[in-house]
Amino acid sequence: MAVFEVVRDLLIPARCVCCGERLLRNERHLCLSCLADIPFTYFWTTPHNKMADAFNSLIQKALPDDAPYQPYSRATALFYYQGEYESLTKAVKYGGNSGLGEWLGRQLGARLAEAGFQTPVTAVVPVPLHWRRRWKRGYNQAELIARGVSAALDAPLRTDLLRKARATGSQTALSQEERLANVARAFRAVGQPPAAPCHILLIDDVFTTGATLFAARQALLAAAPNLTISVATLAYAP
Ligand SMILES: [Zn+2]
Repeated sequence: MAVFEVVRDLLIPARCVCCGERLLRNERHLCLSCLADIPFTYFWTTPHNKMADAFNSLIQKALPDDAPYQPYSRATALFYYQGEYESLTKAVKYGGNSGLGEWLGRQLGARLAEAGFQTPVTAVVPVPLHWRRRWKRGYNQAELIARGVSAALDAPLRTDLLRKARATGSQTALSQEERLANVARAFRAVGQPPAAPCHILLIDDVFTTGATLFAARQALLAAAPNLTISVATLAYAP
């Protein structure tokens, strides 16, 4: 441990993001007890899970009747958005805790690597913020997470493929239909799509109804219909 870290820890003791307890020397971000109790979803162990079903039902609903067969999209979250674990995503989103975001991203990526995909991930793409929001916040929380996922999967982080072209209001108090309408056509694919076969892993912080990830997926597919797109988030909040 570098000298300045020892001094910093003496002056400002690091605390567990979940319970607020003072961390021991060998603990990072979470105390051992909170780390042991993370409510993992284990969604990565099976292509068919509650989150993937919800996401694929959005895809099915948007398809015209005569659409060709659509392969089932993979969707995974690391943990359930519940209790004190909500503070993990909040610390990344509102607190800009980049170390925590990247560490959680690595945890997610390691499980995705373990689970394996039929097509290896060729690009990790964070859901972008509108430039004004990004400028105000100073960072994009999805990008902090995607950095860790990209490192764990050894797949390139691509922030140049997707842009949020339209600012949208908060999704928090909206129903699923309202959320879909709120983010419809908010994203736009930019630049040259990566050469096929390409498997894009879209990253966001929380999956609630899937409306944001769905809108981002539709924008990428509109530009390059042969992409395979999977989605992964830190938390699942049904
Ligand atoms: Zn704790």
